[in-house]
Amino acid sequence: MKRIVCVLLILLLLTSCKGKGDHITVERDENGVLKASSEIFAMDTYMQVTCYGKRCKEALEASLYEIRRLDALFSVGQEGSEIARLNQTGEATLSSDGASVLTEALRISNMTDGAFDCTVYPVMQLWGFPTSQFRVPGEQELKTALLSVGSEKLQFDSNTNRIQLGGTAGIDFGGIAKGYTSDRLMEIFEEYDLVSGCVSLGGNVQFFKAKTDGSLWRCGIKDPDDLDSDRYLGILSVKDNAVITSGAYERFFTDEETGKTYHHIIDPATGYPAESGFRSVTVVSKRGITADALSTALYVMGKTKAEAFWREHRDEFDMILQTEDKTVYITQPLAKSFSSEFTVKIIE
Ligand code: AMP
Ligand code: MG
Repeated sequence: MKRIVCVLLILLLLTSCKGKGDHITVERDENGVLKASSEIFAMDTYMQVTCYGKRCKEALEASLYEIRRLDALFSVGQEGSEIARLNQTGEATLSSDGASVLTEALRISNMTDGAFDCTVYPVMQLWGFPTSQFRVPGEQELKTALLSVGSEKLQFDSNTNRIQLGGTAGIDFGGIAKGYTSDRLMEIFEEYDLVSGCVSLGGNVQFFKAKTDGSLWRCGIKDPDDLDSDRYLGILSVKDNAVITSGAYERFFTDEETGKTYHHIIDPATGYPAESGFRSVTVVSKRGITADALSTALYVMGKTKAEAFWREHRDEFDMILQTEDKTVYITQPLAKSFSSEFTVKIIE
């Protein structure tokens, strides 16, 4: 009897551990491995973090802390954040996290001829995305805002992390920060010697190793027409990789006068939401930060340019594209790990 009470008490303790107001569930998975999981709202989106191993609870607490720390650093909307202050004053000495994100943002911007451009902020503001006060800007306003967009509008000294913005330029890490965050969580899982983990930061998914039985994770890629059900665009079997998707469906508004919808992925060449013929773009890469920035960039580029870009940089990433006619295109190395009910064509 005593033993049963003891087991029950341990189970009770395990299943409801609260850390600093977050609800953390701790239990054993079907392979007997200790598993911790939690859901939080941060970076403007719902996030799920699940990890496995002896020290999973501590790792999860450290992960939630890290998510909030990075949110407070990068958010353009939180007054006093590093980026909000930079945008206000035009200069700052960046934290090492800020400098790492900016360095990768500039590298991807350079690689993609500016299809990814974190200086797109003044244009995002005109459309009202940072504040959710949406409006359709006039041609002239957009033209003026575009004069502040481009990597050459900022100066960054990587030795001192000092950044200076020219005129009315501004920075927006919305297209890259979640990828950096999921990379950081993988580092935390490593530090705590975990055996497995999976994080989904608003659809930005990243896997730490394989599942606890050694098999691959099955990652469902959202169907933009059917976001809330179990019907997916396809299922990818994967381990140790980030799987990050960009799509117009993630954030948009409808202009009441015209009924036209406008989404949040801006073509920095025009200042308008990219109309490149995609329903969604998924990038698979070892590095979350790279996958995140590239998914945004490829969405802007459109299919022809995205294919050519992949052929040039295939050592860094793979991709799954869905065009408006619902055909799915997948790069050859992923093809055998992917299943879908849609027509799938392979990019070689
Ligand atoms: P994602 O969901 O990763 O594709 O990122 C979209 C977010 O990135 C937007 O909400 C903006 O904050 C930002 N963004 C929009 N267009 C661009 C662009 N062309 N380059 C870089 N960031 C962008
Ligand atoms: Mg992105």
